[in-house]
Amino acid sequence: MVEMKSDSEIAQMREAGKIVAEVLARVEEKIKPGITTGELDRLADETIAARGAQPAFKGYRGFPATLCTSVNEQVVHGIPGTRVLTEGDIISIDCGVLLNGFYGDAAKTFAVGQISEDKQNLLTVTEQSLMMGISKVAIGNRLSDISAAIQIYVEEKGMSVVRDYTGHGIGRQLHESPEVRNFGRPGRGPRLEKGMVLAIEPMVNLGVYQVNIERDKWTVITKDRMPSAHFEHTVAVTENGYDILTLLE
Ligand code: MG
Ligand code: MG
Repeated sequence: MVEMKSDSEIAQMREAGKIVAEVLARVEEKIKPGITTGELDRLADETIAARGAQPAFKGYRGFPATLCTSVNEQVVHGIPGTRVLTEGDIISIDCGVLLNGFYGDAAKTFAVGQISEDKQNLLTVTEQSLMMGISKVAIGNRLSDISAAIQIYVEEKGMSVVRDYTGHGIGRQLHESPEVRNFGRPGRGPRLEKGMVLAIEPMVNLGVYQVNIERDKWTVITKDRMPSAHFEHTVAVTENGYDILTLLE
């Protein structure tokens, strides 16, 4: 069942979302060659605590950290630690926050110093595919209109969308119904209604769409070890279309 949110609940979710956006902005400032993923995680932790919120991922099914930090061929769910970022890496940062009973969830992939043209194209296409998906968020559209818009855009650019992980409803739970796929035919699934809140999060690979899980049982990597990117926003369905809740202001 899809839990609908009232206007005041959406306003509360925006407060959680703003903290997520602030974390991503502060982490972005620190991303450069020589920093470890563990240092980025500590900065995120401090920022969330300073706002009186709680990290959503720490302890979730046993996940050990505040951020997911996924480098290069890592798709999602990378664990922060002693890894040092080097020039030419890309790093996906995924952050979830709980504030006053409501969750916010967003992700972005950043360049570490100068990156290759292929990696830059991957970042641009993935972020744009998120916006193509969000552009389908409107009352009366069907859930898979979002999915199809993302897949069509990505595949037109010669890249692939990950099938094994999806976006999700979000609210009083981090992961709620419905599952928001990044692939599929349009015109399927529930009609979008005012008060639905969705975390839309395309994961895009430069090579094949298939993925594996590393020995740490968390980190998802591309099967062909080609780079992958991930962008996510928490988005509410409103009278006029959509409202992105994970923006700074
Ligand atoms: Mg996320
Ligand atoms: Mg999510």
